[in-house]
Amino acid sequence: MVRKILELGDESLRKVCKPMKTYDLRLWLLLRDMAETMYKADGVGLAAPQVGILRRVVVIDVGDDHGLIELVNPEIIAAEGEQAGSEGCLSVPGRRGYVVRPNKVTVRAQDRKGKHFEITGEGLLARALCHEIDHLDGIIYVDKMDHEIFDDDEEEAQEEK
Ligand SMILES: [Zn+2]
Repeated sequence: MVRKILELGDESLRKVCKPMKTYDLRLWLLLRDMAETMYKADGVGLAAPQVGILRRVVVIDVGDDHGLIELVNPEIIAAEGEQAGSEGCLSVPGRRGYVVRPNKVTVRAQDRKGKHFEITGEGLLARALCHEIDHLDGIIYVDKMDHEIFDDDEEEAQEEK
């Protein structure tokens, strides 16, 4: 089931989410719905608070060999390097910003059955991991961006003002 994505300004996006402690059908349905919602919106990641569920659950698919990544209670345990680039968010439609992130991160998380695992991502995957895990602490990329990125049309409209 595709769920409604909350947008910037909604209080749920600013809450610190609680750890997931049960790994049952309710979690699996949430993960399924989150993946469906992410794919339908053409996004590369979605965090549970974006659909109003204040639990530490994330889905990511950056279109690489990993395919769909499900992360329960994820934590960044190592980060290195730096990348600067454009970033957007399904909760901030129509906008993009320039955000500096680590170039490589390792995340420790649990799978849908509660089993611990680690995943390391570079480039876009590292960016997505950082972005989605930030959501679990009520942080949105606009808090960290250096500046907003406008497309050409918007730039012209701004200049005309
Ligand atoms: Zn986001």
